[in-house]
Amino acid sequence: MRIFNTETKRKEEFVPLEPGKVRMYVCGPTVYNFIHIGNARPMIVFDTVRRYMEYRGYEVNYVSNFTDVDDKIIAKANEEGVSAQEISERYIAECKKDMAGMNVKPATTHPLATQEIDGMIDMIQTLIDKGYAYNVNGTVYFRTRKFKDYGKLSHKNLDDLRAGNRSLLVTGEDQKEDPLDFVLWKPKKEGEPSWQSPWSDGRPGWHIECSVMSKKYLGEQIDIHAGGEDLIFPHHENEIAQSECCNGKIFSKYWMHNAFLNIDNRKMSKSLGNFFTVREISEKYDLQVLRFFMLNAHYRSPLNFSAELMESSKNALERIRNAAANLKYTEEHAQAETMSEAEQQLAAGISEYRKKFEEAMDDDFNTADALAAIFELVKFANSNVNENSSRAFAKLLRDEILQLMDVMGLIAEPKEELLDADIEKLIEERQAARKAKNFARADEIRNELLEKGITLLDTREGVKWKRA
Ligand SMILES: [Zn+2]
Repeated sequence: MRIFNTETKRKEEFVPLEPGKVRMYVCGPTVYNFIHIGNARPMIVFDTVRRYMEYRGYEVNYVSNFTDVDDKIIAKANEEGVSAQEISERYIAECKKDMAGMNVKPATTHPLATQEIDGMIDMIQTLIDKGYAYNVNGTVYFRTRKFKDYGKLSHKNLDDLRAGNRSLLVTGEDQKEDPLDFVLWKPKKEGEPSWQSPWSDGRPGWHIECSVMSKKYLGEQIDIHAGGEDLIFPHHENEIAQSECCNGKIFSKYWMHNAFLNIDNRKMSKSLGNFFTVREISEKYDLQVLRFFMLNAHYRSPLNFSAELMESSKNALERIRNAAANLKYTEEHAQAETMSEAEQQLAAGISEYRKKFEEAMDDDFNTADALAAIFELVKFANSNVNENSSRAFAKLLRDEILQLMDVMGLIAEPKEELLDADIEKLIEERQAARKAKNFARADEIRNELLEKGITLLDTREGVKWKRA
């Protein structure tokens, strides 16, 4: 398996720190609003990386944070007249709903910045003790020039940075030793959430949280650190500086970054009016369509979002689902149980498609080519399965399609969603069956609901139900 490493700008063979295990950290969103489709890209891409690693037999410890203390969260809280915590809790819950809709698996751990302040204070103190950080009037800065490898990820040179990027200088530069130094801790302003520290009542800078959470949940060294390419500089560069100066070890072996998402060939922005949240997309499309659309491009290529491309993704996904449904029908209605000789010969060739799929994914997660391999398999199924096919042959093909789709996090056989009203109706019917002592029918209804993820609870107040 080869991964393109941003740091070396090459595809490298993946060799984990510990055989059979992958420690992976993906920078998560700042939760002050519904996530937008730009946020969705790294979620979908790196969830697919994780799924493929798991398919390859690795045990993946996948950590992705929520940044729940930040200027934008505080601004939104002030705007609504509620606490910052209320804002972050609300949008973490909404983000998790969107993730579920996109079939993004929950991380092994989803740490929250505000729950990890003690660890951040510890790491900042270590950096001060080692001479990599200093306190000026309650603000702690990282001494960037002291870390000789600074710039190794973004391939930037410190002197060029200083000369060419005046805009990088942030507020408070007057008290910094060097304009390139960045903030680890800052004193609170009026009305902001704050924590006690040896330097001031205040809050951490953004970069320190990922260094701390990665260390706590994955250890001092990890296999893969990932995020959107906009995070390469300064966020990931600063994470490297903090972690490597604190721990004295190489932080991450591989750095993966997904490219930007444009809308109709323009940068997504609120001012251009081409800003979409995942929730808005979900009102128009099954979010599986969004997932398909994102995976139909290489993660390192810029991706252009347009209504046309979403429509073609919708049709493509539909084609695969139709093939799976036809195979299921054949499986259920086949006359012959076992494969004919001709089918056996055809079946021997099926592994070719899986091989193509794996080759594509092994080559730096080329999901577009992997989807193309699934399409070839679908085409093969469509042209070789008919009403005379055996159950075994149809099952073989259907299982193959379902499994490869599942590795991509794509659902080939969507469960039919039952509406609340339908559920109530079935429950009434079950009650009537019980009254008539038709227990077989009553059980049948219970099982039918169970299959669709609805659990019934017989209580003293009557029958209650819940979705799985
Ligand atoms: Zn981060």
